[in-house]
Amino acid sequence: MAKQAPQSDPAQDAPEVGAPKHAAAGLTAVAKSLQMAGEQMGARRTLATLRKVNQPDGFDCPGCAWPEPGKTHTAEFCENGAKAVAEEATERRITAEFFAAHPVAELAERSGYWLGQQGRLTAPMLLEEGATHYTPVSWERAFSIVADELKALDTPDGAAFYTSGRTSNEAAFAYQLFARQLGTNNLPDCSNMCHESSGSALTETLGVGKGSVHLKDLYQADLIIVAGQNPGTNHPRMLSALERAKRAGAKVVSVNPLPEAGLERFKNPQNARGLVGAGTKLTDLFLQIRLGGDLALFRALNQLVLAADGGVDHAFIAEHCHGFEEFAAEAAATERAEVLAATGLPWEQIEELAALVLASEKIIVCWAMGLTQHKHSVPTIREVVNFLLLRGNVGRPGAGVCPVRGHSNVQGDRTMGIFERPSAAFLDALGKEFGFEPPREHGLDSVDTIRAMRDGRVKVFFAMGGNFVAATPDTDATEAAMRSCRLTVHVSTKLNRSHVVTGARALILPTLGRTDRDRTAAGQQFVTVEDSMSMVHSSRGGLRPPSEQLLSEVAIVCRLARAALGPQNPVPWEEFAEDYDTVRDRISRVVPGFEDFNEKVRRPGGFVLPHGPRDRRAFPTATGKANFTVNPLTAPEVPAGRLLLQTLRSHDQYNTTVYGLDDRYRGITGGRRVVLVNPADAAELGLADGAYTDLVSEWQDGVERRAAHFKVVHYPVARGGAAAYYPETNVLVPLDSTADISNTPTSKAVVIRFEPDSGS
Ligand code: SF4
Repeated sequence: MAKQAPQSDPAQDAPEVGAPKHAAAGLTAVAKSLQMAGEQMGARRTLATLRKVNQPDGFDCPGCAWPEPGKTHTAEFCENGAKAVAEEATERRITAEFFAAHPVAELAERSGYWLGQQGRLTAPMLLEEGATHYTPVSWERAFSIVADELKALDTPDGAAFYTSGRTSNEAAFAYQLFARQLGTNNLPDCSNMCHESSGSALTETLGVGKGSVHLKDLYQADLIIVAGQNPGTNHPRMLSALERAKRAGAKVVSVNPLPEAGLERFKNPQNARGLVGAGTKLTDLFLQIRLGGDLALFRALNQLVLAADGGVDHAFIAEHCHGFEEFAAEAAATERAEVLAATGLPWEQIEELAALVLASEKIIVCWAMGLTQHKHSVPTIREVVNFLLLRGNVGRPGAGVCPVRGHSNVQGDRTMGIFERPSAAFLDALGKEFGFEPPREHGLDSVDTIRAMRDGRVKVFFAMGGNFVAATPDTDATEAAMRSCRLTVHVSTKLNRSHVVTGARALILPTLGRTDRDRTAAGQQFVTVEDSMSMVHSSRGGLRPPSEQLLSEVAIVCRLARAALGPQNPVPWEEFAEDYDTVRDRISRVVPGFEDFNEKVRRPGGFVLPHGPRDRRAFPTATGKANFTVNPLTAPEVPAGRLLLQTLRSHDQYNTTVYGLDDRYRGITGGRRVVLVNPADAAELGLADGAYTDLVSEWQDGVERRAAHFKVVHYPVARGGAAAYYPETNVLVPLDSTADISNTPTSKAVVIRFEPDSGS
């Protein structure tokens, strides 16, 4: 029997701290998965649901975007996948009675964890202007409220349509079409906060803003560098791929300010050695780099490779690359002192890595937020591409770029047109297919949307999934901006902070989840997703929806579009809502690579999208070649007596969804308000282990941003840095502190000082 939702909000500021772990997964992960799944779903539903996740005839895990292996295991999920499924397929329900019992002001005092634990939403809810409680509303009225507010705007750009990466391809395509039919490109998405820097750098250098490897390439690589990523928590099935690569003789190097259990050793529960044995040692060389030092590291590697006999693949460069000479001159002139200062690494370790590089034919670099959320993230990722181009490590088996996406369909949404800066080619194809002239002026990304709400330019905020106010930086500014809207609307499965930080009016529109059966008059529908390696496959839920009142994401978009665009609008929204094959037919004529979409996606495992650089070393860049770039060697500057904070996830967390209050691998239990500080830095700053302190960030606007009452934890983080969980520390990230070019919040580089504890 599933456990009841917690009534009281567990205290979050009394964390216990024990020794960090040095191995991930194992029997404990199996036990934890079943325990947390059982608490949400009960035993029978747990078994029925978990055996379908990531299976060819099942549903795609609503967690991260790690691909499925060709042949799936009986249990093809990780601990955090099980938690993500359990959170969605929970038996807990939120009814109208719940909202009648809890005024919004009270809910706003509750933690995100408590809100999320209350269960699945079951009916559309409206917060009338000036009201204290959400009350039930019909779908018809809900759509007409949104339509009226949209029609009342001076310009379509007075609205913003946000997308979280869980949205399916079909819903995303219909959603962007609706927004563009309205006349706006204001399509911010969660990618703006995570891999936007990757997209910008890869599009400029290789011509395609996506990873260029297949899963099997990891099994064939000689060397895998994992930089700024913690797969043990954020992409756990990646550990199976690293284990298999190791068994095939690969070397693994991890570059990270924190020692992470998942990169040290993997106890694979799929085999005896992992269940009862010592598991597999993964990392051969750990470079504990200073926060933001990655550009300098790859620059130094490039200098060493250039200087080595036979280090460079000149044939590849001559045939496929542009800009080599300028890059090589800049790299050769790199000052070692600058590299040592920026990386905090001993030169010997950099030389050790360079030796591994020169001994390896096939190299893959994997990365995540540790590279993308800095001011100089785009130049850093460009330097990683320089590193791979030098030895021809793009466009051949066992080699390439591998940005690992955080949300299950964040890459698919972008492919479907969820982008505030769409290409002219995409808009041309969309306009031709639907007989209209799409808006050409670029729209607003997430940070610009917050600015526009703050400045009164955006009055209607619509979110397809996600938890915008918790996922974005500068929480106080973002919440104030959200509250300045006329209307805020959230299409959601569960309750979260964004539902209680509202505009003058607010709507919660409950939708089907991945695990839910989606049946229309045309029969059982399935949706599709695209993973980090450009594999597109189907996902069909099998569970009876939590309530008959729920609508699918596709149906919500289509019914809203009809209400807002009127009966004369020629797009067959009703057809789309009834039969997703009709949406896919349109996608097949608008989005390259989706030709014969309905036929290809019904093949076992789906299909892989074309990728010129990967498939045939064709680089659709401005030069028609792969571009070497010159990237000024920069690293964050931290004044004396300050540290550089990185925000990160605990092991009981997925993006802003908090599954529990433990961070098992780091030895932290029962609380989240902790700040990890190197003991030597703590000594210099007078921060005793276990003491409480306030964190205050410093930014040129002089605004005081404070996160109060954090427990100091002496932890082996790289000198000069500190680490704490988001969303609790997003309040410290200044809105205007963003990466050059990609405008991604610099959540891995926030200058902080410590002040006496002001209490919780
Ligand atoms: S690795 Fe990612 S996609 Fe796979 S089961 Fe775990 S959370 Fe889900």
